Amino acid sequence: MTAVQWTLAQRESSAPPRTGPVRTCIGCRKRELAADLLRIVAQTSGTDSVAIVPDPRRRLPGRGAWLHPSSACLSNAERRRSFGRALRVSGKLDISALEHYLENRHEHS
Ligand SMILES: [Zn+2]
Repeated sequence: MTAVQWTLAQRESSAPPRTGPVRTCIGCRKRELAADLLRIVAQTSGTDSVAIVPDPRRRLPGRGAWLHPSSACLSNAERRRSFGRALRVSGKLDISALEHYLENRHEHS
Protein backbone atom coordinates (compact mmCIF):
# COMPACT_ATOMS: atom_id res chain seq x y z
CA MET A 1 0.00 0.00 0.00
CA THR A 2 1.42 3.38 -0.94
CA ALA A 3 1.39 6.31 1.37
CA VAL A 4 -1.35 8.01 -0.64
CA GLN A 5 -3.63 5.02 -0.42
CA TRP A 6 -3.01 4.73 3.28
CA THR A 7 -3.94 8.39 3.76
CA LEU A 8 -7.18 7.94 1.84
CA ALA A 9 -8.08 4.87 3.86
CA GLN A 10 -7.42 6.76 7.06
CA ARG A 11 -9.61 9.62 5.99
CA GLU A 12 -12.47 7.30 5.10
CA SER A 13 -12.32 5.41 8.35
CA SER A 14 -12.14 8.55 10.46
CA ALA A 15 -14.98 10.26 8.59
CA PRO A 16 -17.95 7.94 8.27
CA PRO A 17 -20.71 9.05 5.92
CA ARG A 18 -22.81 11.60 7.73
CA THR A 19 -26.47 10.79 7.52
CA GLY A 20 -29.46 11.66 9.58
CA PRO A 21 -32.48 13.88 9.64
CA VAL A 22 -32.23 16.97 7.48
CA ARG A 23 -33.72 20.32 8.46
CA THR A 24 -33.88 23.70 6.81
CA CYS A 25 -32.10 26.66 8.34
CA ILE A 26 -34.59 29.50 8.75
CA GLY A 27 -31.81 32.01 8.13
CA CYS A 28 -30.35 30.98 4.79
CA ARG A 29 -32.98 28.37 3.84
CA LYS A 30 -30.31 25.80 3.15
CA ARG A 31 -30.99 22.19 3.95
CA GLU A 32 -28.59 20.82 6.50
CA LEU A 33 -28.15 17.82 8.75
CA ALA A 34 -30.03 18.48 11.95
CA ALA A 35 -26.84 17.61 13.83
CA ASP A 36 -25.23 20.74 12.38
CA LEU A 37 -28.10 23.05 13.18
CA LEU A 38 -29.18 24.70 16.38
CA ARG A 39 -32.73 24.02 17.52
CA ILE A 40 -34.61 27.04 18.74
CA VAL A 41 -37.98 27.26 20.40
CA ALA A 42 -40.37 30.02 21.31
CA GLN A 43 -41.21 30.55 24.95
CA THR A 44 -44.17 32.67 25.81
CA SER A 45 -43.38 33.95 29.24
CA GLY A 46 -45.26 37.18 29.65
CA THR A 47 -48.31 38.52 27.98
CA ASP A 48 -47.27 39.72 24.55
CA SER A 49 -43.55 39.05 24.47
CA VAL A 50 -42.18 35.85 23.01
CA ALA A 51 -38.65 34.76 23.83
CA ILE A 52 -36.73 32.87 21.18
CA VAL A 53 -34.33 30.60 23.04
CA PRO A 54 -31.65 28.17 21.91
CA ASP A 55 -32.25 24.52 22.62
CA PRO A 56 -28.88 22.83 22.08
CA ARG A 57 -30.01 19.72 23.97
CA ARG A 58 -33.22 19.54 21.93
CA ARG A 59 -35.30 18.80 24.97
CA LEU A 60 -37.54 21.80 25.24
CA PRO A 61 -41.17 21.18 24.46
CA GLY A 62 -43.06 23.01 21.80
CA ARG A 63 -42.62 23.79 18.19
CA GLY A 64 -39.00 24.15 17.18
CA ALA A 65 -37.16 25.71 14.29
CA TRP A 66 -33.65 25.19 13.05
CA LEU A 67 -30.86 27.64 12.47
CA HIS A 68 -27.18 27.49 11.63
CA PRO A 69 -25.35 28.51 14.81
CA SER A 70 -23.99 31.64 13.17
CA SER A 71 -24.74 35.30 13.60
CA ALA A 72 -25.13 35.66 9.83
CA CYS A 73 -28.04 33.24 9.72
CA LEU A 74 -29.47 34.78 12.86
CA SER A 75 -29.61 38.24 11.34
CA ASN A 76 -30.94 36.76 8.12
CA ALA A 77 -33.76 35.07 9.98
CA GLU A 78 -34.50 38.24 11.90
CA ARG A 79 -34.60 40.36 8.77
CA ARG A 80 -36.91 37.95 7.00
CA ARG A 81 -39.07 37.59 10.09
CA SER A 82 -38.53 33.87 9.84
CA PHE A 83 -38.91 33.25 13.55
CA GLY A 84 -42.57 34.13 13.71
CA ARG A 85 -43.36 32.13 10.62
CA ALA A 86 -41.36 29.05 11.57
CA LEU A 87 -42.45 29.00 15.19
CA ARG A 88 -46.02 30.13 14.57
CA VAL A 89 -45.81 32.97 17.00
CA SER A 90 -46.65 36.63 16.67
CA GLY A 91 -46.05 39.73 18.67
CA LYS A 92 -42.83 41.07 20.00
CA LEU A 93 -40.00 38.58 19.61
CA ASP A 94 -37.08 38.68 22.01
CA ILE A 95 -34.01 37.08 20.48
CA SER A 96 -31.51 38.39 23.02
CA ALA A 97 -31.07 34.94 24.58
CA LEU A 98 -30.27 33.53 21.18
CA GLU A 99 -27.89 36.38 20.36
CA HIS A 100 -26.17 35.88 23.67
CA TYR A 101 -25.82 32.17 23.03
CA LEU A 102 -24.26 32.68 19.61
CA GLU A 103 -21.95 35.44 20.81
CA ASN A 104 -20.52 33.20 23.48
CA ARG A 105 -20.26 30.20 21.26
CA HIS A 106 -17.00 29.52 19.49
CA GLU A 107 -17.91 29.44 15.87
CA HIS A 108 -16.06 26.81 13.94
CA SER A 109 -15.63 28.23 10.52
ZN1 LIG B 1 -28.18 29.08 7.69
